[in-house]
Amino acid sequence: MPPARIDLPGCSLIEDASLAERNTLRVAARCAWFAELHDASVLPALLARPALHELPLLVLGAGSNVLFTADWPGLVVHPRDERIEWLGESDGYAHVRAGAGANWDHFVRWTLAHELMGLENLVQIPGTVGAAPIQNIGAYGAEVATCIEHVEAWDRHARCWTRMDAVDCRFGYRDSCFKQAPDRWIIRAVHFVLPRVAPLQIEYAGIREELAAMRVDAPRAVHVAEAVARLRARKLPDPTQIGNAGSFFKNPEMDPAQAASLQARLPELPAWPADHGRVKLSAAWLIERAGCKGLRQGDAGISARHALVLVNHGHASGAELWALAQQVREAVHALTGIWLEPEPRILP
Ligand SMILES: Cc1cc2nc3c(=O)[nH]c(=O)nc-3n(C[C@H](O)[C@H](O)[C@H](O)COP(=O)(O)OP(=O)(O)OC[C@H]3O[C@@H](n4cnc5c(N)ncnc54)[C@H](O)[C@@H]3O)c2cc1C
Repeated sequence: MPPARIDLPGCSLIEDASLAERNTLRVAARCAWFAELHDASVLPALLARPALHELPLLVLGAGSNVLFTADWPGLVVHPRDERIEWLGESDGYAHVRAGAGANWDHFVRWTLAHELMGLENLVQIPGTVGAAPIQNIGAYGAEVATCIEHVEAWDRHARCWTRMDAVDCRFGYRDSCFKQAPDRWIIRAVHFVLPRVAPLQIEYAGIREELAAMRVDAPRAVHVAEAVARLRARKLPDPTQIGNAGSFFKNPEMDPAQAASLQARLPELPAWPADHGRVKLSAAWLIERAGCKGLRQGDAGISARHALVLVNHGHASGAELWALAQQVREAVHALTGIWLEPEPRILP
């Protein structure tokens, strides 16, 4: 019997749905109900439905930053509004609203086509616009927080639509109020403020060298995006080829005295300044030094190309992937006393 499907205005509901094609680690999880939300305004009515209102709720974008260690016992809401709206321009800044369901990379390329700056270093990050604020996505020296004006979200505690200004989102390194309270907000759209002219960030991790290899002497945002896209394609495993969720561990941060004492023991350990006078250490280096790069158990593995990336070589279950991740954490802890923190959300 095919799963039951109920078509409601603005939303399709599927009972007992597979999530295997809906997470980039390709874990064969299922959920009790899956809702494709085409029109966010029907969300309050959907959540109030008798069959659904007491179930645990998960918002799922492209599933590129989650690990299902088991089936999801409740409702999964999948935002589908992909609209990008030009709201106006003043004082050299454009104001743009993007629906939560828009593909992130498509949106970045849309801003570049409109000669807007600010998101060029964040090209080619998998996922949706609605998920970008959750962990304040960042790459190649940039973070999305600098370009967010406000976020439109359903507040499940107050049961109302709310506008969260950037300052209220409490953005930090791979962090925000949304990540801290994952059961509270459902984002339906993000408002961006994007400059026409801004300094390019090209000092980070090989961008300048890549631009030189591209023979670009006077780079513009599109060139930086192209350089970042080339670097990413070389460095990161492609989820369409092998299941992964990008960097699985966050770089640990600590106070300078702690970092210095670790570096006295491990002199080659890369470190760089973080916010609030703290020091960030390379998790990839620590994992490699702990002997875990390329580690494999069954189909669960740590990439041999990039020590931060947990990979599914075929049919690993979420529990098997999580067990391997725990093993890596324990190896790094034994070496350094540091417990690495996972970057993706571990579910349920
Ligand atoms: C190959 C690869 C490379 C990556 N590179 C980077 C990188 O360079 N930088 C980086 O920061 N991340 C990176 N990631 C992680 C991932 O792409 C981002 O975190 C992305 O924003 C996740 O988007 P998503 O739509 O897939 O979110 P999902 O995985 O579907 O969800 C992630 C979290 O956000 C929540 N969420 C999603 N949508 C909403 C919404 N509308 N409202 C409320 N909550 C929501 C979910 O409940 C979950 O907690 C990478 C992942 C992969 C696979």
